[in-house]
Amino acid sequence: MVRILDKEFEPYISSEEIKKRINEMGSEISKAYQDKKPLLVSVLNGSFIFTADLIRTIDTPIEVTFIRVASYEALKSTGKVREILGLKENVFGRDILILEDIVDTGTTLEHLSEAFQDLGTKSIKVATLLHKPDAQEKASKPDFVGFEIPNKFVVGFGLDYEGMGRELKEIYQIS
Ligand code: 5GP
Repeated sequence: MVRILDKEFEPYISSEEIKKRINEMGSEISKAYQDKKPLLVSVLNGSFIFTADLIRTIDTPIEVTFIRVASYEALKSTGKVREILGLKENVFGRDILILEDIVDTGTTLEHLSEAFQDLGTKSIKVATLLHKPDAQEKASKPDFVGFEIPNKFVVGFGLDYEGMGRELKEIYQIS
C-alpha cells in the first residue's frame, strides 16, 4: 500500500508483468512496422517511462519524438480541443505510431488522430500501456494495448496523481 497526498493505492501490476508485456508489444510493433521506419510520437508527460522501455524492445528502425497535448475550451465548441505542441518533424506521408500511457475516454486520442490526419500522415496507429474499455466513449480504439484495466484510477510507471507517483516501479490502483 502507498499513500500519495490524501489517497491510498494498492499494488496492481508488478514490474515483472509490465516488463514481460512491453516485450511482447515490442515484438508485435516490430513485426507490424518492418521496413517502414515509423515515427513514434510519445505523448508527455505520462508516457516517458513506457516509451523508454518500449523502444528498447523494438528491433526494426524507428524514429522517436515527444509532444505535449494542449487542452483548451474552443470558443464556439462544446467540447475541449486538443492541440499538438512541440512537433518539429515533418509528418507528411509518414507512418505514425502514437505512444500513450493510458487511454481512458479516448477523447485525447481522437483529437490527436484528427490533428495528425490534417498534417497528411500516411497512417496513424496507437500503442497504449493501459486501456480502460469501460470508460471509452469514442469509436477509435488503440491498436496495441498492454493491459485492459477496469475504470479505476491508477498511478505509477509514469502515471501521476496530482503530479506525484510517476517514479513508482509498479502500477498501483486506488484503494
Ligand atoms: P482520455 O482523453 O482518454 O479520457 O484521457 C487520457 C488522459 O487522462 C491520460 O493521458 C491521463 O493523463 C489521464 N488519465 C485517465 N485515467 C487515468 C488514471 O487512471 N490515472 C492517471 N494517472 N491518469 C489518467
